[in-house]
Amino acid sequence: MTDVLPIVAPERTRAILKAHGFRLKKRLGQNFLTVPKVLARIVTAAQLTEADDVIEIGPGIGALTEFLAGSAGRVLAIEIDPQLLPVLADTMAPYDNVQVVEGDVLKLDLPALVEEKLPGSTRLKVVANLPYYITTPILMHLLQSDLPLAGLTVMMQKEVADRLTARPSTKDYGSLSIAVQQNMHVAVAFDVSRKSFVPAPNVDSAIVTLTRRAQPLAEVTDQESFDKLVRGGFAARRKTLWNNLINLYGKTDAVKEKISLALQDCNIEASTRAETLDIPAFAALSNALFARDVR
Ligand code: SAM
Repeated sequence: MTDVLPIVAPERTRAILKAHGFRLKKRLGQNFLTVPKVLARIVTAAQLTEADDVIEIGPGIGALTEFLAGSAGRVLAIEIDPQLLPVLADTMAPYDNVQVVEGDVLKLDLPALVEEKLPGSTRLKVVANLPYYITTPILMHLLQSDLPLAGLTVMMQKEVADRLTARPSTKDYGSLSIAVQQNMHVAVAFDVSRKSFVPAPNVDSAIVTLTRRAQPLAEVTDQESFDKLVRGGFAARRKTLWNNLINLYGKTDAVKEKISLALQDCNIEASTRAETLDIPAFAALSNALFARDVR
């Protein structure tokens, strides 16, 4: 840390924004953190050591980046807003372990970027206060990339955190819960009040930690079929699983017969609703449908 005020101190934040004539952009989800205690807790939740290299998505003016720089080995910060680049050049000047890259995280080839900017990285983590308008696309982009991520510690709107951690037979349980929990341990580390940001978003937030499971929760024969079943099973939440399945795979007698047999294979009632099935049940049904050539 430097001997000047942290970036996040309100008087310094204001001075930085004023010096650069920077105006916050709502459409880019620019809600900047202003509470040092919250930043310190994020870094603690991420369990960073100097052996960790960190990808930060959306550094803003560098409030979290500064805390990451003090705790991790190297920090690679990806920011979409070109007007923040001169601000970050200024605020990150004291830190020689921070690299800032301008770009849209959803469009970047992250493994190639990491190879270029963080050569020899042995442990990679994502720590970020995510832009809320694209929380789910960013999570899916990260989890489906070939990045060897040891863990993610990310701020998101409480409502998405609830969906990520939801258990079967709850209103928040759905395709996102399953897609993520199949491969990751997910937990809410702590809640964050909307008052901790400038400007305050109109939702409360939570810090969520995601760590990769040694093995997927349930064995799946064909990932594409599993993903299709999970999405299709929840396509119309009020409908029975049977109705969602015939809408998904077809309404011919031959297909209906195979779906019926696959459900019997797994001891699942046709009248059940997708939200009551846990991940192993979804996997078993996906495997049974795949074995009967229903794709
Ligand atoms: N890290 C800062 C903090 O905690 O105060 C800012 C977080 S703010 C919630 C989200 C940041 O993500 C903004 O700086 C915004 O410009 C940036 N951003 C928005 N969309 C992005 C994208 N597609 N790729 C990279 N950064 C993005």
